Order: sequence, then C-alpha cells, then structure tokens
Amino acid sequence: MKNSDNAKMRQQLPEERVKNFFEVALGLNEEEALKEAKRCLACKNPQCVLGCPVGVDIPAFIKLLAEGKRKEALEKIKEKNNLPAVCGRVCPQEDQCEALCVLAKKKFAINIGALERYAADLEMGQTFKPKAGPKTGIKVAIAGSGPAGLTTAADLAKMGYSVTLFESLNLPGGVLSYGIPEFRLPKKIVEREVDYIRSLGVEIKTDYLIGRTLTVKDLFGQGFKAIFLGLGAGLPQFLGIEGENLDRVYSANEFLTRLNLMKAYKFPEYATPLNIEGKVAVIGAGNVAFDCARWAMRLGKEVTLVYRRSESEMPARKDEIENAREEGLKFSLLTQPVKFISDEKGYVRAIECLKMKLGEPDASGRRRPVPVENSNFIIEANTVVVAIGQSPNPLLSKATPELKINPDGTIAVDEKLMTSIPGVFAGGDIITGADTVIKAMGAGKKAAKEIDQWLKKSR
Ligand code: FAD
Ligand code: SF4
Repeated sequence: MKNSDNAKMRQQLPEERVKNFFEVALGLNEEEALKEAKRCLACKNPQCVLGCPVGVDIPAFIKLLAEGKRKEALEKIKEKNNLPAVCGRVCPQEDQCEALCVLAKKKFAINIGALERYAADLEMGQTFKPKAGPKTGIKVAIAGSGPAGLTTAADLAKMGYSVTLFESLNLPGGVLSYGIPEFRLPKKIVEREVDYIRSLGVEIKTDYLIGRTLTVKDLFGQGFKAIFLGLGAGLPQFLGIEGENLDRVYSANEFLTRLNLMKAYKFPEYATPLNIEGKVAVIGAGNVAFDCARWAMRLGKEVTLVYRRSESEMPARKDEIENAREEGLKFSLLTQPVKFISDEKGYVRAIECLKMKLGEPDASGRRRPVPVENSNFIIEANTVVVAIGQSPNPLLSKATPELKINPDGTIAVDEKLMTSIPGVFAGGDIITGADTVIKAMGAGKKAAKEIDQWLKKSR
C-alpha cells in the first residue's frame, strides 16, 4: 500500500492488485478522514453543492464528520443521496463537486468522494432508515433498476407511494451490478445499497422484461398509476468491420456481464465460461474500455488498448487511465482497426489497423482522427473486446409504438421528464445516452418529484 498526499485515498499497490480481484482504492481511515474533513472551510455559499446533481449538503456532512459524528454525517448525505457508498466510489467528483470546491484553486480540493465513502462505509447493516410519509395507497411501477430507477423508487417510497421495481436481469443494480468491475465497486456494496432501498418498502421483481413479460398497457391494467422508465443504454455499438463476428471478439457488454454478473472469474465455482486466450486487445478509451482492459490484466493477460485518438482525448477518468498504466496496460494510440483477421478455426488472431493523425475538432470538441494513407499495420490479438459505446435498447420502444423516440434512439421527454404517454416518465441513460451514475440519479430524483406532482394533480 502507498500513502499518497493528504487529498488522496490509499490504494493497493499495482503489482499486488493486478493479481487479485479486490477493491483497488482502500478508503480513508479515521485519522485521514478527520484531517481531510477539518480542511473544509464550511463555505457560506458552497460552490461544491452546485456541482452535485442530487444536491447533497456537502459542507454540513463534512462538518459532522469533522466533529466525529459519522452516523449523523451519513444521515445528512442520505437526505439527498440513496446510494452514497456507490457514489463515493465511482462518481467523477473531479468534474463535479470537487471541481467547484474553492480550495481547488489554491491547492487540493476537498476529497469529497473519499469522505462520502468513509461516511457510507459505516453502514454495514442498515443503520439509517428515514420515516416514509403517510401511505398514499397509490401504486407506481419502475422499469429498470440502475441508479435512475433505484433513486426514483427510493424517493417515491419515502413519499408514501407503493413502488414496484421491475428488472429484466436476475439481479438489481443495472450497470452497478453488471458493468462496473468488482475491483472498483464490490458487489456486496451494491447489494447493501439495494437492501436499503428494499427496506424503504420498494418491492423488486427481477426477470421481468418490460415490453415483453409485461407491457406498459399491462402495468396500467394492473393498477399502477404512473410508470418510470430507467432502462439505461445497454445496447453495444460495433465497428461494423470485417471479421467482427469471429470467435473471441466480444462486445464490452458481454465481456463485463460474464465477469461481473455471472462471475466468470470464479469459474468453475460459477458455471460461466469466458473464452479468453493469448494477447488481448481492447478497442476504445472510455471507462468501459478501461474496465475491460483491467479485468483482462487481472486474468493474467497481456493487454493493449487500441484508440483512434491520442491520450488527451480519452474520455475515461484520469485516475482510471493512471491506474491501468500502473498495472501494465499497453497503448496503441492513433490506431483505427479496419479488419479482424481469422485463424484457420475461425478465432480472431490479429487486427489490421490504420495509423491516424489528429485533424480539426469535431462536434464533440475533440480533435478528429484522420487516417494516414497506406499506413496499414497488424496488431496480434487472440481475444478482442469492442468497447466503443452503448446506445438505448429499442425493445420497449418497438413494443410501445405510441412512445416517442428521438433519432438517436433515446426516449423523448418534456421538461418534466414525461414521455409522449401521459403518466409514463423516463430518465437516466435512456434519455441522455451513456452518461454517469450521478446524473442518472439526478434524473431519478427529478422524476420522483414530477411523478408526485402529476399524481397529486390527477387525483
Ligand atoms: P443502467 O444502469 O443501465 O440500468 C438500466 C437497467 O434497466 C438495467 O438493469 C437493465 O437490465 C434494465 N432494463 C433495460 N431494459 C429493460 C426492460 N425492458 N425491462 C426491465 N428492465 C430493463 N458512471 C460513473 O459515474 N462512474 C463510473 O465509474 C462509470 N463506469 C462505468 C463502467 C461501465 C462498464 C459502464 C457500462 C458504465 C459506467 N458508467 C459510470 C456509466 C453509468 O454506469 C451509467 O451512466 C448509469 O448506470 C446509468 O444509469 P441508468 O439507471 O440510467 O441505467
Ligand atoms: Fe468545503 Fe470546498 Fe465545499 Fe467550501 S467548496 S464547503 S471548502 S468542500
């Protein structure tokens, strides 16, 4: 373990962590948390709060921590945030609350994420359950149990609604369960947060695919007065190049689901195989690509990340890039795959690539990659993971023609997050495209308020 500067968390050393599946970041101990909390200036007009999509009263919870009142600090956070142990681990605070902290300009911003995690990790059982409002007797259905659905469900349950959450997979949590790896977000943490939401009275039904097992019409027929769609963006995108259907070319979605949800890394204790051989190439440079690459390194593989731009355009969190580099990840930058090459048995054995150079910025503001003519070269790869983005799954929209869909496949909503069907609301990645946990939670919070208002008006 290393002790870095006072604004950072301790971590497992790279050479240790790359050989195990345990959490990389170790959190703050009591002494470190107190020291960090005491640095907070308790600003009268705290900018950090403006950067928090769920509006946690950051100076108030940090003050409680500085006074040694960890349980009260957690209660303060939970007034606004139903998943603090998750957010303390995976939120990009450096772009949100911490980016706006006044101390960021002087030396180090307060490590708000680490303090949130420290407060939340007190709760190994269920120490805090807010009083639900008087029961309204009104039923609300939520489809999708990711951060958006869980947040909407929790907030509506606190308001006294009878909430049933339908999830298509066999476990709740959305990307928190099937996407983000154990070594960044242990699944026992996700289970604990989901248990808290159950303890508020939310009923969770898994293996229910809304649009197939039950339609939107069926839900209204069963007496649900409003519906929230938090279906995420789980449809993998592909490169559309020759050889993409070869054996051992995976979508990031399948690769991560096998490892996280179906525990392929514990094979044969868990009966999920993962055919991963030889050298591994991961294509893409977002958080998802880095998660795939870091999993593959933990399975003992030599891994190369293939990206068509340069490092400064990578969308992944800087910490993830740094952690992966420390763990031995290789990079092939300014590289565009153009063809997957097969061996004699139909398995991928190499990728034909083109060298790229950077041109003018494109719509995303990042410099556009431009092919260098006749620069074709080969990267040896016996397993490939394509991690170039996800989009909304069209299953529900196909089954529900009256649901208005935007050209990019996201569900169209008005400013109150209501869809084209009265009483049906939507939020999270299904309306924005792939984004972040806390933004999905922010949408879930807003949706809960709007659903409450709408139900009150329609009574
Ligand atoms: P999701 O989390 O996708 O949940 C949607 C749920 O709906 C899923 O459980 C799905 O099974 C279910 N569902 C879909 N269709 C149906 C249906 N028809 N009926 C019933 N259920 C259905 N964000 C961060 O902030 N930090 C990170 O470090 C980070 N890392 C990431 C790593 C990976 C590998 C991935 C894929 C994403 C990551 N993200 C991260 C993004 C973040 O996880 C998402 O933005 C967030 O989970 C979106 O929440 P959501 O509730 O909208 O959707
Ligand atoms: Fe504390 Fe920084 Fe927020 Fe001020 S801006 S209250 S110093 S965390």
